[in-house]
Amino acid sequence: MNKHDITSIKQLLSTPKKIIIVPHKNPDGDAIGSSLGLYHYLLKGSHKIDVIVPNDYPSFLKWVPGNDIVLKHDSQTNECDTLINDADIIFTLDFNALHRTGNMEQVLTESSAIKIMIDHHQEPDNYAKFTFSDVSMSSTCEMVYHFIDMLDDTDSIDANISTCFYLGIMTDTGSFRFSSTTSTTHQIVAKLIEKGANNTNIHNNVYDTNSYERLQLLGCALNNLRVIPESRTAYITLSQEELNKYNYKKGDTEGVVNYGLSLEGVVLAAIFIEDKQEGIIKISLRSKGNFSVNEMSRAHFEGGGHINAAGGKSYLSLNDTVEKFISILSSYNKALNDE
Ligand code: 5GP
Ligand code: MN
Repeated sequence: MNKHDITSIKQLLSTPKKIIIVPHKNPDGDAIGSSLGLYHYLLKGSHKIDVIVPNDYPSFLKWVPGNDIVLKHDSQTNECDTLINDADIIFTLDFNALHRTGNMEQVLTESSAIKIMIDHHQEPDNYAKFTFSDVSMSSTCEMVYHFIDMLDDTDSIDANISTCFYLGIMTDTGSFRFSSTTSTTHQIVAKLIEKGANNTNIHNNVYDTNSYERLQLLGCALNNLRVIPESRTAYITLSQEELNKYNYKKGDTEGVVNYGLSLEGVVLAAIFIEDKQEGIIKISLRSKGNFSVNEMSRAHFEGGGHINAAGGKSYLSLNDTVEKFISILSSYNKALNDE
């Protein structure tokens, strides 16, 4: 996104517009934080703004300011499609390809609205009129902050906007510890706290609201943890039966994959979660150092993401998916042992 783009966007936003903001399917803290942060920011103009998520998100994100205005495409399809078809501008946040919105892909592709992408995932598609893509960024929330800065408007960042951005930066950086966390990230976070983000409350709302069953499910996952020392890899499985046993709710498995990566010597961690309703195994991959799980997921599991965090899926059974994973690992052994 260059100066010319910023001038054009400033011009666009100088008169009231019908604006849609869309994050990726299965929205996480960064997707919700960036969408609602941008929503609160744009509300300061005289625009009509709707935030549409492809599907629901976990309850530990439902305290976020603006949560009540969020529309869900899977349960409010007609209303959402009408709004999208009628929109002047669509901001697409925290994803790099329209298929990442699941069933919204077609209506978004066909919409004639001006699309503005703000995203930090690897290998962005070229569907937007304005693309602000930077894979070195900690989070899309940090990027939307920079976007507002480019518009010369950080003075209008208030407590609601700050709370939303803090949420996304905190969740996407693993509470400010991943290597994508820079001194600039911290400087922005400091400003967000100054402007009213309550860091302690935000952290508690996201991380300290476990149910007893969620902890039992975590126990089950840790019990299923397996290590492949020659590949410096750890993986976890969760079957649908196990999820049902502990009354699984959306978000309950968030972060569980990181336990594998916390083992000494492990540089690649995976979790395989059976989803009978969607007929897939949902895969999350995490790595340390230069080993790219984005590349691995693209090559073998129809997914992608970042160098150290990626997602994907498999249509095989849970056991066959694990077998496939183990069989492809040998071709990565050298890279994994070089880390
Ligand atoms: P998670 O494992 O938490 O679902 O996802 C890890 C990271 O990879 C997130 O940034 C997420 O947005 C991204 N990601 C997850 N699934 C996919 C996918 O299927 N394709 C792409 N390109 N990125 C994904
Ligand atoms: Mn993100």
